[in-house]
Amino acid sequence: MLTVQEALEQVLRHARLRAPVAVPLNECLGRLLAEDIASDIDSPPYDKSMVDGYAVRSVDLENGAAELEVIEEIMAGAVPTRPVVSGTCSRIMTGAPLPRDTDGIVMQEQTERDSSARGKIRINDARFRAGQNILRQGVAMRRGDVVLQAGRMIRPAEIALLAEVGRSAVRIVPAPRVAVLSTGDELVPAGEQPAAGQIRNSNGPMLVAAVGQADAMAVDLGIARDERGALRERLAEGLRNDVLIVSGGVSTGVLDLVPGLLAELGVEQVFHRIRMKPGKPLWFGVSKTTLVFGLPGNPVSSFVCFELFVKPAVARMSGRENQVHRRTVTAELAADFTHRGDRPTYQPAVLASRDRKGPENLTSRTATPLPWAGSADLRGLVDANALIAFPAGDRSYVAGEEVQVLLLDE
Ligand code: AMP
Ligand code: MG
Repeated sequence: MLTVQEALEQVLRHARLRAPVAVPLNECLGRLLAEDIASDIDSPPYDKSMVDGYAVRSVDLENGAAELEVIEEIMAGAVPTRPVVSGTCSRIMTGAPLPRDTDGIVMQEQTERDSSARGKIRINDARFRAGQNILRQGVAMRRGDVVLQAGRMIRPAEIALLAEVGRSAVRIVPAPRVAVLSTGDELVPAGEQPAAGQIRNSNGPMLVAAVGQADAMAVDLGIARDERGALRERLAEGLRNDVLIVSGGVSTGVLDLVPGLLAELGVEQVFHRIRMKPGKPLWFGVSKTTLVFGLPGNPVSSFVCFELFVKPAVARMSGRENQVHRRTVTAELAADFTHRGDRPTYQPAVLASRDRKGPENLTSRTATPLPWAGSADLRGLVDANALIAFPAGDRSYVAGEEVQVLLLDE
């Protein structure tokens, strides 16, 4: 049986970055940029005013004071038509191009209208200096500059810059398509009343949601019966995606058909079983196009296997390298705890941080193991914001001992 670390290495070895595609600008948030972006403009494209005020010739001001005739009003989006000659100025709005022969903008607030002479203003701006309130052409970027490099994650700020340099379509690494198939004769959808021997499908909705939270694209294949023909058809459909997650049917029960059918469909098994709890019967295989995860049917097992193996694979395929290796933190156990079992165990827990008084300003973290009845107990899982990773072996831990903790997404 593989260790968790060995299994993760195998998974990541098969997870490849998806091939880039061009998408419209409004579809590239959160994706990895797959091309260098050069600007097709200077920014700003012309010398422009940063305030509402008056464009002046600095030589006309004495200690920041002058009386000038206003010869034009320049709105944003317009172009100046008149050069400013000695004794005159132009009214100018934020973002409007600077008129010829001016070299400073006096803010509106530093001026007053001359009531005795129409069309004149009086300027009083004691701190005036030449060049003030002007943003010069090209200070942010020059035409031809590479302003974004391939490999960068696209956030709203990058989208703004892409728009500014005229890119309405961009090459990105697309979100992996991840199909989710729940198997089991006992399963009914959430909206139905289970009959004798039946339970509701909780894994399907959970995994679809988890795929979305991992910024991948979920393809919900619903429930398949434990029947060779129907199951095979659905598995084949799932294999048309980048990842196929099958929940249930991968243990050693009489109706655990999934591994055999996948083999018939050309999926090669990479491993089956991991030394961990919950989640031991995790099955992983690959076809030419698809990574296939057979997650154990118990919901908490499915959840933990998704966290530990599917999520890192999706991160790698998306180019989110900083999310491939999960962050674990060290915390102090909040209470005595006895761990029993010959496999490393991921125990639902509550992680709390508090600032410790004292000169070092340290933050201490405590982890409280939650009451948990095992891999079918979703109640125990919902209160958790973390999983404590206990090493294999029976052992009594005392409060205050250090443990390793895996954070769950909020
Ligand atoms: P299996 O891995 O198919 O042997 O299932 C193991 C356990 O998980 C059984 O008790 C199943 O009833 C349960 N189970 C399987 N699939 C689901 C599911 N989609 N939602 C909730 N429980 C499930
Ligand atoms: Mg089953």
